[in-house]
Amino acid sequence: MPAQIEVFPCRSDNIGVLIHDPATGATAAIDAPEANPILEVLAARNWSLTDILVTHKHADHVEGILPLKDRYDIRVVGPGAEADAIPGIDVTVHDGDVVKVGQLAAKVIATPGHTAGHIAYWFEREEALFAGDTLFALGCGRIFENTPEEMWQSLQKLAALPDATRLYCGHEYTQSNARFALAVTPDDPALRERAAAIDATRAAGKLTIPSTLGEEKATNPFLRAGEPALAKAVSLENGRAADVFAALRRWKDKF
Ligand SMILES: [Zn+2]
Repeated sequence: MPAQIEVFPCRSDNIGVLIHDPATGATAAIDAPEANPILEVLAARNWSLTDILVTHKHADHVEGILPLKDRYDIRVVGPGAEADAIPGIDVTVHDGDVVKVGQLAAKVIATPGHTAGHIAYWFEREEALFAGDTLFALGCGRIFENTPEEMWQSLQKLAALPDATRLYCGHEYTQSNARFALAVTPDDPALRERAAAIDATRAAGKLTIPSTLGEEKATNPFLRAGEPALAKAVSLENGRAADVFAALRRWKDKF
């Protein structure tokens, strides 16, 4: 039986995600931005929470943990490097570790950049990547604790996963990310088409998550820093991809 994945809004612009294993009944939340929306979806699906998989320590990803622990007997998994800052953490994981949710298995991928200990969870068989605040639909996270070079390496690791992989990120920023992407490459036909589809999805009151890594590799400016058109957009013709990426990220910070 395939895993079931539910995506729903939390807080002002966070994404809540639950992944459910029908074979065992195990259900994991990816991060816990806010307890109430998670509890509502669990109740609506008649699922019981068994695990929380934390991507990083920021308050808008961990504030729901303790209220959910009061309600369920759950295991909280998170990055070893940020264990001190994650309330209620039970199990620490590192790059290359495998985390089981019932019979579902996720590989832990270290993605330093947004925070130094940030990790992503890749469910290979389910073709699902939970990237937290590292890679967004049409964007990437702000770089708080590492160099742009390190963030670029982290993004390259995620971009190396199969194109069919569904990307679940930590925030619904896609429409504003699309505006920035169009400022960088205004005439890109694939980007224009995607931006129009995003506007229609948002106008209908729906989330734009998940996208696929194939879509991101084709249209996300931060994954395309190795392409001549992006280098030209930041006046770094023939520049290194990591430098083009850094220039794009600086531009976006002020956009
Ligand atoms: Zn964050």
